[in-house]
Amino acid sequence: MSILITNIKELLQVHDTNVTIVKGINMKTLPVLHNAYLLIENDTIVEFGPMEFCAYPDVEKVIDARGKVVLPGWCDSHTHLVYAEDRIDDFVGRINGLSYEEIAKKGGGILNSANKLAQKSEDELYEAALKRLNKLLKLGTGVIEIKSGYGLTVESELKILRVIQRLKKETQAFVKVSFLGAHAIPEKFKNKSSEYVDLIINEMLPQVYEEQLAHYIDVFCEKGYFSLEVTDRILTAAAAYNLQPKIHVNQFNAFGGVALAVKHKALSVDHLEQLTDADIKVLQGSNTMPVALPQCSFFLGIPYTNARAIIDAGLPLAIASDYNPGSSPSGNMNLVLSLACIKMKLTPEEAINAATINGAYALGLSSMYGSITRGKKANIIITKPISGYQQLPYAFGENLIDKTIINGIIH
Ligand SMILES: [Zn+2]
Repeated sequence: MSILITNIKELLQVHDTNVTIVKGINMKTLPVLHNAYLLIENDTIVEFGPMEFCAYPDVEKVIDARGKVVLPGWCDSHTHLVYAEDRIDDFVGRINGLSYEEIAKKGGGILNSANKLAQKSEDELYEAALKRLNKLLKLGTGVIEIKSGYGLTVESELKILRVIQRLKKETQAFVKVSFLGAHAIPEKFKNKSSEYVDLIINEMLPQVYEEQLAHYIDVFCEKGYFSLEVTDRILTAAAAYNLQPKIHVNQFNAFGGVALAVKHKALSVDHLEQLTDADIKVLQGSNTMPVALPQCSFFLGIPYTNARAIIDAGLPLAIASDYNPGSSPSGNMNLVLSLACIKMKLTPEEAINAATINGAYALGLSSMYGSITRGKKANIIITKPISGYQQLPYAFGENLIDKTIINGIIH
């Protein structure tokens, strides 16, 4: 099917050549075409330009975007979308003064999510995750990473990964998968955590590989969870199965996780609420994308990633939702955009670059997604009539999206 979008007030992120990453000072530039059209054939962007050159009488569907902004769909490079239940108790506990670590010690946190997930069938998990994902398609997210990590047993980790594979096959979203068996040490392995690491390396990883269930390896590299030495072991083992790292580092403590990730050629390092000059230096010599997760800072009340320091050092930055029941129970990238501007002091242009082209880079997909470029996939957001694209981050909490086109299908 061919779709022609006409009279577009602002067509954002237009590139004649196929950019795949935007760094440093260049993040302030967001190429905009005013009064434009965009032509889509099936799932692909085939042409765009000023309205005066728009002449396609035979298209099957025309969408008039008068007063509206059109841009590439959000590329959310970090979520934990498959989970059993929300964590309201943790939420209320935190309001009453408990820290993230104290909640974990009381049996809340990730282990609580793992216990609940073990009791759910694959179908139940699939149905719940599908509902969440369908909501996100309408909010502009068409490319998404989903992690395992609430299983923490061989059976449950594989169960989550199979659910993600079903989402990948049966929805319009383009899904990338990360195996996060190293999310927490299960109760059973308390005081013998190295045995759990053995289980990850000797039993989980070979099965993940055999069934081709994941693209990436993730580890929660953090004090009290997985040390540098253990993370190194897991990433080394995963490399033998061609799983590139995308890892959780520097959420609560900066102790060398970034350098370790770069040593293992990580595609991205995610969180970075704690960040040292040494971390920035290491990233400058790498192809690793730093990813900030501002909703997690908002929800937990922890510091925000120093995004200015990252961008001002000439580095690229991506932003993602971290959608999960414990620390970011929302996958709404529009709110992520607002928080990036309001709390991390990104300009609207930087935030949109971070949520589109750089998000796609953090999933190894930026040659296919993340910009309005001929030949790229047609994942598109069409806003309601707005004064300009700056209103997207400005009017936080409001849904300014009229419709989305994901994989060539209108939502
Ligand atoms: Zn996460």
